[in-house]
Amino acid sequence: MVSNISSVRKGDNRFLSCRICWKVALATFLTILVVEAAILIPSYQNYDRDWKQNREMQVLSEVQGVLSSVRVSGTASVEEMIACLNILTRSMALLDWNLYESEDGQLLAQNGNIASPSFDTGSSSDSVHMPTGEVFDVVWRYDVLGVPYDIEARLSSAGLAPALKAFLFRILGLIAIISLFATVVTMFVLNRQVLRPVLNLRAHLQQAGDKVGDLQALITDTKQHDELGDVIQAFNDMLLHIDENLKTIKENERELQRAHDHLELRVQERTEALRQEVQERREVEQQLREKERTLYQSANYDELTRLPNRLLGSDRLLQALENAKRYGRVGALMFIDLDNFKEINDTMGHSMGDQLLIQTAERLSTALRGTDSVVYCSDETRLSMGAEDSGHAGEEIVARIGGDEFMVILPEITSEEDAAIVARRLSEACAKPFCLNNHEVFVTASIGIAVFPRDGSDQQGLMMSADTALYAVKDSGRNGYQFFSAEMNHRLIERLEIEAQLRYALDHEEFKISYQPIVDVKTQQWVGVEALLRWSNVCLGEVAPDDFIHVAEGTGLIIPIGEWVLNEACKAAKRLEKAGFPVRMALNVSARQFRGASFVDTVTMALAAEQLPAERLELEITESLLVDEQSEAVETIKRLRKLGIRLSIDDFGTGYSALSYLRRFDVNSLKIDRSFVTGIEHSEQDASLTRTIIAMAKNFGLEIIAEGVEEKNQLDFLALHDCDFAQGFYLGKPASFDEIIEMLQNSIAV
Ligand code: C2E
Ligand code: CA
Ligand code: CA
Repeated sequence: MVSNISSVRKGDNRFLSCRICWKVALATFLTILVVEAAILIPSYQNYDRDWKQNREMQVLSEVQGVLSSVRVSGTASVEEMIACLNILTRSMALLDWNLYESEDGQLLAQNGNIASPSFDTGSSSDSVHMPTGEVFDVVWRYDVLGVPYDIEARLSSAGLAPALKAFLFRILGLIAIISLFATVVTMFVLNRQVLRPVLNLRAHLQQAGDKVGDLQALITDTKQHDELGDVIQAFNDMLLHIDENLKTIKENERELQRAHDHLELRVQERTEALRQEVQERREVEQQLREKERTLYQSANYDELTRLPNRLLGSDRLLQALENAKRYGRVGALMFIDLDNFKEINDTMGHSMGDQLLIQTAERLSTALRGTDSVVYCSDETRLSMGAEDSGHAGEEIVARIGGDEFMVILPEITSEEDAAIVARRLSEACAKPFCLNNHEVFVTASIGIAVFPRDGSDQQGLMMSADTALYAVKDSGRNGYQFFSAEMNHRLIERLEIEAQLRYALDHEEFKISYQPIVDVKTQQWVGVEALLRWSNVCLGEVAPDDFIHVAEGTGLIIPIGEWVLNEACKAAKRLEKAGFPVRMALNVSARQFRGASFVDTVTMALAAEQLPAERLELEITESLLVDEQSEAVETIKRLRKLGIRLSIDDFGTGYSALSYLRRFDVNSLKIDRSFVTGIEHSEQDASLTRTIIAMAKNFGLEIIAEGVEEKNQLDFLALHDCDFAQGFYLGKPASFDEIIEMLQNSIAV
């Protein structure tokens, strides 16, 4: 505060540059000047009059002096008066004069050229001034002079002008000095009382303007008790007020800042929470999409092979069919069935079966992709297209529609030959050996083809046609393809009827067993018989096992039927034994039956029921059961062998044709498939194969049974190559038990 004030004081010279001060000083100066002029000018005007009066009085006293010196009195004569006046005229006291009789105003004497009496003789003795240039006239009455005469005199005013001039200069000097002094005093007071506080105030204000800092420091400690003091005090109050306001504002600002910070924190927290929420939502959405995808996937795609399933396949078929109808196109539907999948699945276990299906799906897909006119639409492609129905009916797809059944849709073909090309490719793809658990497995495929819209106006009809064609392939020996034809429908109906009739066959005792002799090649002696199932249905008549066994396998009826055959065969074996023919009883066991959990128990019970020695029974199984060392079938084989039951491999050469596994399993005999025996005579390949099989089986210590011997030459060939046993129409056709007994008795008789 003190420093502020002192700094202001140091700058006092600002006074000279203070415009207000100069204005006030000038105003003061001029005001005093005007006031003084107003006061002094009248005294200047009176000066002339006063001077003349003084002159008059001076001359009058001289006149009176002269008059008294000449001892004139009230009785002085005119001459004395004139003498006195002349003396005064000579002494230049008077310039001109007129002497009058005071009573009647008569001019008594005259000196000079005062023209006429300028006074009323009857008036008082007041003098009369008559200015004429540097002279002025006066009149003295008798009462002034003490004589009875009036004198009119002309006096000189020669000294008046310089005196007046000197007076004027004096006055002006006085005015100037007083004005100056008054101005200086005013300015001093102004400086002390106004300028300094104002400058201080200004400095403070400027400082306050320059830097808004501690306003308390700007408060001036004033002791000035006037308006300016009031102003400073007001300013101080204002500062205090502002300071308080500022503090409040700052406090508010801090509050605001705190609130802002708090708000910002809240906003950040909220933002973070929102971000997390969004993230969570996204995750949920992702999960939902994933679920949706999974749902779509599981609803439309096969879990195992990742191929479209029956549902999606049917949907695509519908689209393809509709498009074909609309645009006049021709398409093809294929049903593909793996010929020996059931056996593989039953014998090698489900995991192997699954592997086979996966590999088959891949091969079919690849083969379809490789077809020139065909584009395979993978499920990945489909999913990447939005997992939803893409609506592209023009895509060729392969779908899995059942256990080992696949469906291929070719939405557009130019001719049936296109479909045949694709079918051959698919068939070839399946024919190559599959590697399952280090085993080579051979699979063939049957393909039924329906052309649309010709073979079916709707989905179901079309699928039935393809299925019918497929069964036609199966019936005609599998491993191939066929187009649907009208006659096939007849067979399909037949098959459906077989399935329906088969359910009641056991209860209605429609089954019978034929027995076909198994003969020693060398001695032609019967070593056993093979039990072959026969079915005579009221509606269908005689049905061949090849026509109904696979239907029974498909429906599961083969289990009770197989059990019935087993019991019947055991009974027959016992009766043969009792009849004196303790020959072996061979019977066919399907893979499904063999894999059944209670199969060994069933066999044990059947043997026990007839008290038949176990070695009398020979179970014919297919080689597919032996392919997988890990399968349940292996355990069953061991248990059966432990019981002493004989085991033979039926239809050897048609399936896996891998002889190596024979070494590992404890089987007793091999039955060379009829197809080889039939070809012995004409086909060197068949002959050679037969020879090899015989040699190898011998090598493994197995007995050999040749099937389907129809001619003597065949039997001779077998005998030549050391085949143990044979079976066939040449040696004996399947016949009823009674016939067999008879045949046996005859053979003995012979
Ligand atoms: P499979 O086990 O190979 O039986 C031999 C088949 O060949 C029999 O046909 C028999 O009649 C026929 N056959 C025998 N010798 C000759 C011949 O010299 N020439 C010709 N052309 N054929 C001959 P079938 O009885 O029609 O049986 C067919 C198949 O049905 C059997 O083939 C067998 O796999 C199956 N089967 C028959 N009965 C049963 C059974 O009880 N259970 C099971 N699971 N399958 C059976
Ligand atoms: Ca057989
Ligand atoms: Ca056979």
